[in-house]
Order: sequence, then C-alpha cells, then structure tokens
Amino acid sequence: MTAAATPTGPRVVVVTGGSRGLGAGIVQAYLDAGDIVATCARSITAEVEAWQSDPETADRFLFGTADLARSADAEVFVKAVIEKWGRIDVLINNAGVARDGILGLFSDDDIDTVVDLNIKGTIYMSRLVSRRMLAKGSGSIVNISSIVGLSGYRGLAVYSASKAALDGLTRALARELGSRGITVNSIASGYLRTEMSHGLDEGQLKQIERRTPAGRLGYPEDIARVCQFLTDPAGSYLTGQVIVVDGGLTS
Ligand code: NAP
Repeated sequence: MTAAATPTGPRVVVVTGGSRGLGAGIVQAYLDAGDIVATCARSITAEVEAWQSDPETADRFLFGTADLARSADAEVFVKAVIEKWGRIDVLINNAGVARDGILGLFSDDDIDTVVDLNIKGTIYMSRLVSRRMLAKGSGSIVNISSIVGLSGYRGLAVYSASKAALDGLTRALARELGSRGITVNSIASGYLRTEMSHGLDEGQLKQIERRTPAGRLGYPEDIARVCQFLTDPAGSYLTGQVIVVDGGLTS
C-alpha cells in the first residue's frame, strides 16, 4: 500500500494571529515557500500592510479582521478564504493570549479572555476548516501549544490549562480525521522573544536562556520550520503528536 498522492503547486495555508510575533514568522515562511497564505487578527499591522502591497505576495495573501473568540468572526474569515481560493490545505492555529497572575486573584474576564481565544477560538477554526478538508479528503492542522501545557508554570494556570487542552484536541482530532487523509499535530513551543514574552523581565529571560541547552530563546523561524515539516503533504504518517520545540529546555 502506498501513501496518498502528493498534491503539487502552491497550497492554501491559513495561519491565525499572523499579524505579528510567531504568527507573522509562520506567514513569512509559507509565503517564502511560494504558498498562498491567509491570516487574521483583530487589528492590522505594518507586516500585514507590507504583504498586501508587495507585488511578490499581494496576489497570494489575504488578511481578515477577526476576533476568533467569536465563532461568527471565524466563520466570516474562513468563508472569505474559500470564496477566494476554493479550499484550505493547511491550518495553523496560532492565535493565542496569555494572562499571568495567581489564579486566586484572576477575574472572570481574564479567565474568559484566555479560554475563549485559546480553546474555543481554536475549536471554532478547526471545526470550520476540517469540514472543508473532509470534503476534499486531505489537509494538515497544527495547533501551537506550549511547554507550559506539559510542565505547568506558576502564575500561568489558566494559560497552561488552555495549552494542555489543545494537546488533547490534537490527539482526539487526529483519531477522528486520520482515516480521511488529514493530519493533526501540536507544537509545544518553548519561550520566544515576542510581545507575549514581554510579561517576563530581562532577569527571567536570561535565566531561561541559561537553562536552555541551545543557549538562547526561540525565534519564530524555529517554530515555522517545524510547522512546514508537519504540514508537508508527504508527511501523512506523522499525526496525533505533540512535538516539543524548546531548544532542549524540558529535556
Ligand atoms: P503575540 O505576539 O501576542 O501575537 C498574537 C497574535 O494573535 C497577534 O497576531 C494577535 O493580533 C492575534 N490575536 C490575539 N487575540 C486575538 C483574537 N481574539 N482574535 C484573533 N487574533 C488574535 O503572541 P506570540 O508570542 O506570537 O504567540 C503566538 C502563539 O504562540 C500563541 O498561541 C502562544 O500561546 C504561543 N506561544 C508563545 C510563546 C512565547 O514565548 N511567545 C511560547 C509558547 C507558545 P491582535 O492582537 O491584533 O488580535
């Protein structure tokens, strides 16, 4: 028995939260590879404007304003991608938010912000996109989780819970979709220098660097490269896994 035929030509890739930070690095990597990329966020950034105006990328890039904590926004965004390109081959569920603090002092709002985007937003997008992938019998989904979903982190209880939930979603969806030609994996990312890590002070960041065998924090490209590997159309036998990409920090 052989693996399913590998489609050729540019793929249609959806990256949530690609306006900055890790998501922007993932968008750039797929654009550099010649793929068509759609991304969304609540607000536009200079990176998005550059992709929209660059003749190299303008025709194969789409930005949608969407708050993925709202299922209706996710639906409008996915519909726009389907109307423009007719299919989605790859979904990278990257948009996420962190709130730090001792759980006993968390407000309802803080809990809802993290759960509504990190868990519910990812589930809304996976539901919408997997429907289309099922219809065409192929596709790859990657959920961006975190090493704190595996090991926990003081002051990040809700965020850690949300990332562990994504790993559970990954395993269940891989079972649900595997026989239909769709792979689902998580990347448990280590610490990256993005806006999200601004909550950590320089001392904490230096300590993480010292404890990391690779001797540095991660760059978006480190994670983007693994996304591309996991979504390679020839990689249909790798599914249901949580791949830790953290420079060896948790080894
Ligand atoms: P970031 O710099 O804060 O970027 C987050 C992205 O998500 C932005 O594009 C943001 O745009 C978008 N976003 C936020 N809320 C949204 C919403 N309600 N609806 C739609 N889009 C929304 O974060 P990052 O560090 O790149 O993190 C990206 C992913 O990596 C997250 O899932 C995070 O948990 C994970 N991660 C990060 C680290 C790290 O050290 N940075 C480590 C492990 C895992 P708008 O604000 O304009 O909506």
